Amino acid sequence: MDLAKLTLMELRGALRKGQATAVDAVEAIRDAVEKRDDRVKGYIGADFEAALAEAHRADLNLPLGGIPVAIKDLINVNGQPCSCGSRMLAGTYRSPYDATVIRKLREAGAIPLGRTNMDEFAMGSSTENSGIQLTRNPWDLDRSPGGSSGGAAAVVAADTAIASLGSDTGGSIRQPASFCGVVGLKPTYGRVSRYGLVAFASSLDQIGPITKTVEDAALLLGAIAGVDPKDSTTLQAPVPDYVEGLKGDLKGMRVGLPKEYFIEGTSAGVRAAVDAGIRKLEELGAELVEVSLPHTDPAVAVYYILATAEASANLARFDGVRYGHRSEQGHDLGEHYRKSRSEGFGAEVKRRIILGTYVLSSGYHDQYYTRAQQVRTLIRRDFEEVFSKVDVIASPASPSTAFKLGELANDPLHMYLADVFTIAANLGGICGISVPCGFSEGMPVGMQLLGPALGEPAVLRAAHAFEKATDWHKRRPSLGSTCPIPQG
Ligand code: GLN
Repeated sequence: MDLAKLTLMELRGALRKGQATAVDAVEAIRDAVEKRDDRVKGYIGADFEAALAEAHRADLNLPLGGIPVAIKDLINVNGQPCSCGSRMLAGTYRSPYDATVIRKLREAGAIPLGRTNMDEFAMGSSTENSGIQLTRNPWDLDRSPGGSSGGAAAVVAADTAIASLGSDTGGSIRQPASFCGVVGLKPTYGRVSRYGLVAFASSLDQIGPITKTVEDAALLLGAIAGVDPKDSTTLQAPVPDYVEGLKGDLKGMRVGLPKEYFIEGTSAGVRAAVDAGIRKLEELGAELVEVSLPHTDPAVAVYYILATAEASANLARFDGVRYGHRSEQGHDLGEHYRKSRSEGFGAEVKRRIILGTYVLSSGYHDQYYTRAQQVRTLIRRDFEEVFSKVDVIASPASPSTAFKLGELANDPLHMYLADVFTIAANLGGICGISVPCGFSEGMPVGMQLLGPALGEPAVLRAAHAFEKATDWHKRRPSLGSTCPIPQG
């Protein structure tokens, strides 16, 4: 039995039955990484010795006892490097503390294992903006795994991880999950503590699970969710038993289909797979309802104003003095800051800091930032209105399957527009999942299911019922050892 290939629930069962130990599980991940990650490069690094030490002490009676979980490289794990996919932090920063999600994982018995690659500071949709390395899609090594949690999705798809934690500011869990054929859940804003998550856009960021099944996502969400005195934006609401909530069928569930999400621009193969997925939901008893989200059109623009504005403030601390790469040059403080930041940040991060600084500057603040906040309120109200009529919304997670590496790397605007289906959920603070729903030209397609604030139980139940009735999630890429390594 190759333990690395198991789902979280399967591994938990094997550990509890005594068929394997936590040490076996960590060793299985180490072997899988050695065998397969040289082609995918989903991991930036992994401290197997620390994980093995934890595995020896693992309490298998805890909910996630002995389960290794891979961590996106912007979540602080005490004593581990945390580079955020940036040369700004690589080699210079080690976390002095655990993020709340890591503390909670440990309390549930899990073992944080490995740092997964990402777009620098989570800015991007292909992981090509990583300052560390290129990650490849396990389904086609010439393609991107999506982003920004590209490594976190790729390692789950390649069976070099059991499950992982990613972060989603505008789609960065759902889109890479869809590109890699795995499950990705973005929780409601405030459901999961952001303490110890390196901030990109604080009003949009959420941590969430990337897993092989919906049940695994439900289990992992239950472990990391909840109020946290260290993050005042966390919600007071009690954490339900998400796994228990998966029970039940879809009879009478109302599924909204926003007409603005089913327009031209989505590839025919994605459209066909998602349409078939929606028909399956109907077969399972759901009632389909056409709905409208009238402020979908400006959502991408609003996001790129607000997210960059927040990023420009959040990234000010990386100046070579408080945090980050310190330039050898610079004759005075101003020049020292300039050189440190110019050398440490990559092109996309610089572009966003400049854009964000511009939209916040006096004279432009009202024209861009304030107006974007107003439209954000309209987007939020669109969702409130729709969720007064339906339980969940279904759509594609992304208009296309995984991009070819290099295809959009020099076309940032096109890349931004590809976030059209995922971004509004972050602006509205609601929850959403991507679940595998088919293939187009050999590449996985994800169906997105959105729910209202704290609507995770309905979203998970719909996704789980769909998953049980299909076998898309069981397909795995054939990353055989004879597979050629593409050049470039
Ligand atoms: N692709 C979006 C961006 O580039 C979303 C990123 C994210 O969710 N972190 O900002």
